[in-house]
Formats: sequence, C-alpha cells, structure tokens
Amino acid sequence: MGYKTISPKLARPSSNHFRQSLSQLLAPCPTCNGTISLSASFCPHCGAILQQSSMFQVNNKSPFALLAGAIGTIALTVGTFCPIVSIPLLGGINILHLNDWAGITLLILAAFSLVFLFLQMTRCLFYTGLGSCLLIVYLFYSYYSEKSKAIEEIGQEMADSPFHNIANAAIESVQLEWGIGILIVGSALLISASFITDN
Ligand SMILES: [Zn+2]
Repeated sequence: MGYKTISPKLARPSSNHFRQSLSQLLAPCPTCNGTISLSASFCPHCGAILQQSSMFQVNNKSPFALLAGAIGTIALTVGTFCPIVSIPLLGGINILHLNDWAGITLLILAAFSLVFLFLQMTRCLFYTGLGSCLLIVYLFYSYYSEKSKAIEEIGQEMADSPFHNIANAAIESVQLEWGIGILIVGSALLISASFITDN
C-alpha cells in the first residue's frame, strides 16, 4: 500500500506552483550585480528600482491596444473574403480564389491574433501583423509582375494578330480592388496595437 503515500500536491502541480517557481528564478542586479529575484520590483542590496524583464511583460491590458488589435483581426478576416482584384468577365476575386495558400495563411494569422487578444498578449500582435504585411507586399509584387509578364507574352505571340489590342486591353483592365485596402488597414492596426501600452 506504499503508493497511497503519494501526495496529491506532487501528483498535480498547479499553475500557481509553476508561477511561484518562475518568480523564484534569480538574476544579477543590473546596478550592483547582487543576486535578486526576477519578480522583485527593487533590489534588496542597493535599492535600485527594477523594470520587469520584457518576458514577463507580455500581458498588456491597455484598452486601446486591445481595441486596435480586435479591429485589425476583424479586418484581416473580412478582407480575406473581399475582392482584391477584378478580372474581366469574372469580376471581383478574393484572395482565397486567387491564391488559396495565401488566403489560408491570412486566416491562420487572424486566428493567432485572436488567441493573443484573448491572452491579452498584444505585443505578440506585432508578429501576426508583420506576417500579414509581408503577405500583402508579396501580393502586390505578384500582381504587377504577372501583369507585365502577360503583356510581354501577348506582345511576342500576338504581334501580328488583330486581337492584339483587345488582349492587351483585357489585361490592362485587371485592377486591384478595395479588399486589399481592408487587408492593409488590418495589418497596420495589428502592428500599431503591439506598440500601444498603458505607460
Ligand atoms: Zn542592486
């Protein structure tokens, strides 16, 4: 019956226990080099006031940061389903139809942003904002490079064709749509939210 002696405390370490051991981590004081607890707000040796390390500062309850992050997350999600280019005969096309992996990546970034918002880790919104920003830059780049490539190909293959001008006009009429603006606003809000703090 020896196994009955296992204490329930040892069997199930609580999150409080985890937090407690984190706060017991020791670090050198930046002023006097004395050993201090990471959770200390001032040094017991020299009295220097200590700023908590940024690792422990991820939580940010600034209502403006949370609001900017929430609107940014909504904009990113809505923008994924809004037309970002219009193509003759087909009309407005959203990013999921244009480039499915880019659309899915945007939705994943929006989902991560939502999790960071629930955890009040608005600093981490910088990474989802930056990711969506890079994706938008890539979309702009591929839009302009595909367009000029198509015009070049038509110039070579249809030089003597009477349909040359019609084909050219069709490609020229491929335009960016307002959905791209929503995506830009969304990623800009996520990045700004990561910089907003209470102090
Ligand atoms: Zn000190």
